[in-house]
Amino acid sequence: MPATNPTPTSHHLAARLARELEGEVLFDRFSRGRYATDASHYQIEPVGVVVPKTDADVRMALAAAREEGVPLLPRGGGTSQSGQTVGRALVMDFSKYLKRLISVDPGARTCVVEPGIVLEDLNRQLSATGLWFPVDVSTASRATIGGMAGNNSCGTRSIRYGIMRDNVMSIAAILADGSELNFGEVGRNLAPLGAIGAPPANPASFAATPAGGVSADPGALGLVRDMLALGRREAAHIAQAFPQVSRRVGGYLIDALLPAAGPVNLATLLCGSEGTLAVSRRIELKLSPLPKNKALGICHFGSFRKAMQAPQHIVKLKPVAVEVVDRTLIELARAIGMFRPVIESYVRGEPDALLLVEFAEDEQAENLRRLARLDELLADLGHPNSVVKVADAAGQKAVWDVRASGLNIMMSMKSEGKPVSFIEDCAVPLEHLADYTERLTAIFEKHGTRGTWYAHASVGCLHVRPVLNLKLEKDAATMRAIAEAAFAMVREYKGSHSGEHGDGLVRSEFHASMYGTHTVRLFEEVKDRFDPKGLMNPGKIVRSPRMDDRALFRFRPSYRVGPLTMQFDWSAYPGAGGGFQGAVEMCNNNGECRKLASEVMCPSFRVTGNERDVTRGRANTLRLAISGQLGPDAFASREMLETMKLCVSCKGCRRECPTGVDMAKMKIEVLAAANKQRRLPLRDRLIAYLPRYAPYAARLAALINAANAVLGAARLSERLTGFSSKRPLPRWHPRPFRLAGEARASATEGGARAAVAGAPEVALFADTFNTYFEPENLDAAVEVLRRLGYGVRLLSAETGKGGGGRAALPGARHPLCCGRTFLSAGLVEEARAEARRLLAAARPLLDRGMAIVGLEPSCLLTLRDEFVSLLPGAASERLASQALLLEEFLAREVETGRLAGPIGSREGKLLLHGHCHQKAFGVMGAVQQTLALVRGLSVETVASSCCGMAGAFGYAAETYDVSLAMGELSLLPALRRAPAHALIAADGFSCRHQIRDGTGRKALHVARVLRDAMRAGAGRASSC
Ligand SMILES: Cc1cc2nc3c(=O)[nH]c(=O)nc-3n(C[C@H](O)[C@H](O)[C@H](O)COP(=O)(O)OP(=O)(O)OC[C@H]3O[C@@H](n4cnc5c(N)ncnc54)[C@H](O)[C@@H]3O)c2cc1C
Ligand code: SF4
Ligand code: SF4
Repeated sequence: MPATNPTPTSHHLAARLARELEGEVLFDRFSRGRYATDASHYQIEPVGVVVPKTDADVRMALAAAREEGVPLLPRGGGTSQSGQTVGRALVMDFSKYLKRLISVDPGARTCVVEPGIVLEDLNRQLSATGLWFPVDVSTASRATIGGMAGNNSCGTRSIRYGIMRDNVMSIAAILADGSELNFGEVGRNLAPLGAIGAPPANPASFAATPAGGVSADPGALGLVRDMLALGRREAAHIAQAFPQVSRRVGGYLIDALLPAAGPVNLATLLCGSEGTLAVSRRIELKLSPLPKNKALGICHFGSFRKAMQAPQHIVKLKPVAVEVVDRTLIELARAIGMFRPVIESYVRGEPDALLLVEFAEDEQAENLRRLARLDELLADLGHPNSVVKVADAAGQKAVWDVRASGLNIMMSMKSEGKPVSFIEDCAVPLEHLADYTERLTAIFEKHGTRGTWYAHASVGCLHVRPVLNLKLEKDAATMRAIAEAAFAMVREYKGSHSGEHGDGLVRSEFHASMYGTHTVRLFEEVKDRFDPKGLMNPGKIVRSPRMDDRALFRFRPSYRVGPLTMQFDWSAYPGAGGGFQGAVEMCNNNGECRKLASEVMCPSFRVTGNERDVTRGRANTLRLAISGQLGPDAFASREMLETMKLCVSCKGCRRECPTGVDMAKMKIEVLAAANKQRRLPLRDRLIAYLPRYAPYAARLAALINAANAVLGAARLSERLTGFSSKRPLPRWHPRPFRLAGEARASATEGGARAAVAGAPEVALFADTFNTYFEPENLDAAVEVLRRLGYGVRLLSAETGKGGGGRAALPGARHPLCCGRTFLSAGLVEEARAEARRLLAAARPLLDRGMAIVGLEPSCLLTLRDEFVSLLPGAASERLASQALLLEEFLAREVETGRLAGPIGSREGKLLLHGHCHQKAFGVMGAVQQTLALVRGLSVETVASSCCGMAGAFGYAAETYDVSLAMGELSLLPALRRAPAHALIAADGFSCRHQIRDGTGRKALHVARVLRDAMRAGAGRASSC
């Protein structure tokens, strides 16, 4: 990316926009950098970014850009794979504000939306009507309808529902010159256009828009006449210019102008126009009834070629989807913990390829009949008994989740070479699919690379990405050579070189060779008629640069990362900083972290909607900083700290980012670098060193608690320390935790039950928070373990010399600590020292095979995560494998057969909130399993992201509001709805406080729920 300074023009434009726009105006270098990439391999720094809040903003920004002669680039989720959303232009981000569902007409099965609405969000809002928008792209969780229309996107079930062009009814758009037009269906005689301004289709919906419909513009009317005239004039050429496959999204859809094709829908011309013709303001969509029933057949093939010969026959059974998954993908999925059970349940043996065939007729009996016919068909084709039938919805979803993660599974490669998209959505007629895939594989082999095949066999559009390292000139040349060979083959088979992901910078230059120069001249005529000054997203579809122009690459020839000194071990990745570079470069901009619902990632984005506050934005900022593209010292700069400020270190991305970008760990690196240049703020020091001074502070508990309660103290404290006055600080407990009694309780103590046969001894890691603020949780855990017959020993500095001997460890006077508070302040050396102490203390216990059991997820899981990175080696690996949360330990005991339920009883409902780190480490299953040991308890896990508290984050004055907003996304409203008698359980210290502050309800650690249930006396674990 040419690191550009603002020009007088951009300066002027920025000032004008800042004056006149209600929305945001982002012209600083960091923001521009964050909008310089999409999910392609290109990078172009925009002139600036606007995030419009209203239609008036859109009009104003467009006018300002035009008057300053700056091109405009509309953008949704920025998930384009072909470079459509990068350009030297004013980027207009529709995704933050302009995302309303304006109206739904269930009778007519239509709706009108603003362009920034995300597909999944739209379908969630529509669900009550029994309708959905069926263009089900894999990026449904973050792709916007504006972007989907812009790319003419296609879903998995396009064989039934068609693609965007078939489902967009009309678009209210603004042209480059500022005139406005409703692009919809018009008759040959232009009659409906006589009333331009009142839209032709569903006028009620548009009239309902706050903007009050569209303007009648004679200029725009002339444009429509010219387009219809072009269709008439070139009818003969257009009729034979394009391949006859359903998956053709390349170029402008001028075939929609053909007179023979019935009434012309001008919205079709905007579909796939990639923001090069107009800005969409309102989009009217055709909806479909939600399928009532579905059945899935998983067809197994011993050879990939045979699998590719089958779809042409299978489609005759009228399935809604036929998707291929090849052997590499199956094996990659089998190696991923969360997918392995699915593969093992539904895949027989080791097939070379699978075809997933879905039927979705209203009657399930009909779906099952078709499944039976599929079985017969495959037997006729020489594959008897090859279909695994899945009729239940949960099973189908599990299988489809693996398929939808196809690209993500592939992209998790940590090497320098990555699967690159450029020929990934060619489409060929089904009868040529086997030959095409075989010949393309041979081309890959000739160039010393390989590709993995998956996706839409139903329409001959298979995704395949050769593995290349685009930092190397030779691999850029290979990319071009493969593209030319592949496209030549596609032409030979009368297929389409651009079948789903659009043209952008990758495929536009090939339109001439695929469709002929006359067709390209027609594309240029369309473009020039809409946008004579070339101000709308230039360089896409027409007059594009070469796809292998390395000056436009994200990793262009001058891309360098200088020497970096990092705090953690990043050696799993290649590149500078011991691999930190490779870890940062793992982000491929696919945008999964922009999803708005389900799981955890990324709570800060869900609250702010800012590109700065999402994992992708942070990863891009880091990449640009370490490669010197944001100026000197950017890595530890104020702007970088701002970029990281709202990251709550929830580790959601560590688990949910398809390529494993671990931003929580990267944030610590940034803080550590910044600490070298700044004095750590008082609040951060107070939190970081809490484990060190806690033993002393606890002695003054009454005094400190009383002082905090004094009227006005909170406001004073906010001024002095930065702790928010709106939130009460945690209360120190007058009697911190101490382990009382013998390691193993006697059979009579506290009603202890007989020891479970062979029950081992465990070492309890008493974290600072539970020890000094809520010791009753540790007491409860000890009681639970002892009642079950386990011996409990405290992991302390004194255990370091073996089996309870006297201490010989440095710092033995203060309790052991996981170092989490130091890490969250970037004080890595302090954390490393704590890790060393804890490891030394744990060694003799680990040697005896003892589990180290803890209660606070963020503390205990630090032993499993950061410790390994702080002190790489066998000792920390061993600790990581033996450090367990209480529930994990108990679940493991159940699995080994040493423990069986019920262990207690408690009638009623329990709402369970998982700490983010429990979710990130896949621990929630163990928590649920443990709670299931309580007879009578009905456990419901709250579908929540981060509670928003995140350690100190919720206490800081400047992040208090965001913290609360995170809680309000799902957790707090769900708990407010819960019946008053329901128990609430949350293992996280911070989570419990957020729940109390946000709802006034008390949440318990699971240890206390178990202890109370055991005390209730009904439970007796069975010895096994
Ligand atoms: C992992 C992965 C899987 C994918 N799977 C699919 C798939 O299954 N099917 C598929 O078709 N695609 C797929 N894509 C490509 C991409 O996700 C889709 O094309 C998606 O619809 C783009 O939506 P977006 O909101 O990100 O649009 P963006 O990328 O932001 O924009 C797309 C185009 O639309 C234009 N645009 C955006 N808003 C407007 C507006 N208001 N007015 C005018 N023009 C506008 C932009 O200028 C751009 O040219 C995938 C991409 C990834 C990374
Ligand atoms: S951070 Fe991960 S999820 Fe987000 S865009 Fe990058 S790769 Fe995708
Ligand atoms: S750690 Fe959490 S808040 Fe931070 S980037 Fe990852 S998902 Fe977002």
